[in-house]
Amino acid sequence: MDMEKTIERCCDAIIENAGLLTDLDRAIGDADHGINMERGFKAVKEKLPELAGLEPAEALVETGKVLVMTVGGASGPLFGTWAMSLGKALDGKELSPGEVAAAFAEAVDAVAKRGKSHQGQKTMLDVLFPVAERFKESPGDWAALPQLAQECAEATVPMQAQRGRASFLGERSVGHMDPGSKSSALLVEAAVSALADG
Ligand code: ADP
Ligand code: MG
Repeated sequence: MDMEKTIERCCDAIIENAGLLTDLDRAIGDADHGINMERGFKAVKEKLPELAGLEPAEALVETGKVLVMTVGGASGPLFGTWAMSLGKALDGKELSPGEVAAAFAEAVDAVAKRGKSHQGQKTMLDVLFPVAERFKESPGDWAALPQLAQECAEATVPMQAQRGRASFLGERSVGHMDPGSKSSALLVEAAVSALADG
């Protein structure tokens, strides 16, 4: 697993889709999710040459720190926590699918703790949780994860938001995809595309 390439793919996926993410947040939030994420992932991309010299786990921890410092909003600390926790959980581990899947699940638990949230509340966790579960169940079948992630993002459309800014809209949050769930699906797709390259 090439961590530098994986991180770079994630950065590009967010930067390329920043407009879409902001549009989603315009419908049920404050139209800044893409702007926030683009700022953070551009900052990570600038740090890539430095990250390339680190152990993969350490590179993830540093990526998380950059995200916490630069993304902002509700999502910055959460995606930052996710990357930092993933890095910490992978420290000293082999990057086998089984180890990565276990670390991924730990990182998602850390996000839930930080966000005081759980699956079913129309957030990023509605993608991250099911992906973590499926990945842990069958680590070798990681190629199926992008489609699952996208389906889970779609499945946030009929939900009513119970966390974050969108929750202030009550029933009016129904009928729109959660922006953070779309970012999560993009990140899963990008990471898996790097894995697929070997
Ligand atoms: P803000 O809401 O502060 O403007 P963003 O627009 O960047 O921040 O991010 C919004 C996204 O953050 C939502 O779409 C949702 O997925 C995620 N989110 C917000 N609050 C929580 C929470 N408590 N737990 C998990 N995810 C959350
Ligand atoms: Mg927002």
